[in-house]
Amino acid sequence: MTAGPGELSEVPELRGLALSRAEVDRATARRADTEWLAKAWADPATRVVVIEDGRALIRSGHGTEELVFVSPAEAPEGVRFLLGVAADDTVYFGVAGPLPQAAAGAAPSPGTRPVSLREAGPQLSDRDVGLMVHAVGIANWHAVHTHCPRCGAVTVPEQAGHSRRCPVDGSEHFPRLDPAVIMLVTDPDDRCLLARNALWPERRVSILAGFVEPGESAEQAVAREVLEETGISVVSARYVGSQPWPMPHSLMLGFRARATGSLDIAVDSDEIAEARWFSRDELRASVESGEIRLPPPVSIAHRIIESWYGSDLGGAWLGARKDASRKSVSHRGPA
Ligand SMILES: [Zn+2]
Repeated sequence: MTAGPGELSEVPELRGLALSRAEVDRATARRADTEWLAKAWADPATRVVVIEDGRALIRSGHGTEELVFVSPAEAPEGVRFLLGVAADDTVYFGVAGPLPQAAAGAAPSPGTRPVSLREAGPQLSDRDVGLMVHAVGIANWHAVHTHCPRCGAVTVPEQAGHSRRCPVDGSEHFPRLDPAVIMLVTDPDDRCLLARNALWPERRVSILAGFVEPGESAEQAVAREVLEETGISVVSARYVGSQPWPMPHSLMLGFRARATGSLDIAVDSDEIAEARWFSRDELRASVESGEIRLPPPVSIAHRIIESWYGSDLGGAWLGARKDASRKSVSHRGPA
């Protein structure tokens, strides 16, 4: 069932977003328990996922795809972090380092290959996608937060890889997240607003998005971004769901919002090349004719558009390139 024009209160929250799934408990209480951590790392049954440049090894076969784990003894050198403990008591760690095959210098094993979250996210199980999203987010943070922002000294991982401390001034630093809003705007006729970023190829469109600024609520960011990018004023921003997007460290906050006042679009030509209103029929016709292409299913953008459209979107919508989501929402990166 779809909501009528303006009835955002009836918009259901998004469920089952590809990268919002998880199964393994994060075991946060164990992060400071050095004795327990050492014991877990010494256990050959402990499983380690290796992350290199945002990618992990996966194995394909029998119609499934799964993460490739190694034992602690097989893990490469690199920053280590506790990912959690499963219901069967298996302990999971991540290590930021060369992927197992690259480290061994061997040819890839049949059926295994390095993949990013964009590629693997929709195919992996809840357990594996949750572990990989967590691991990629932590690995990305360590990769670029090696020094103390106060004094410049090299910091040291703590809390089982979930914080870093400066040995000179004692300051503690936590993984950084950049919250970004992403919103589908409708007009009184329940048409939706889609736009093409100035950096995107012709025909690729998505809903609007942007980063939340300091001192701003998510709802204020929705209104500001829509006004800046298209000249449209919105009211009644309503949260519909969120998805981690650790490429490199965003959290996407999904919204629906209603346009109010003039529906005349005035694009900010620096950031947005073109924008227009689409009815459902117009959207389907434009997609089927190839006039426009939408973001890939792994993105929250795709799911929000689909939610508004009112039904699952067929194969015609899968034509986006695998990497389409990198810049499918904002030139600054969220998707
Ligand atoms: Zn310092």
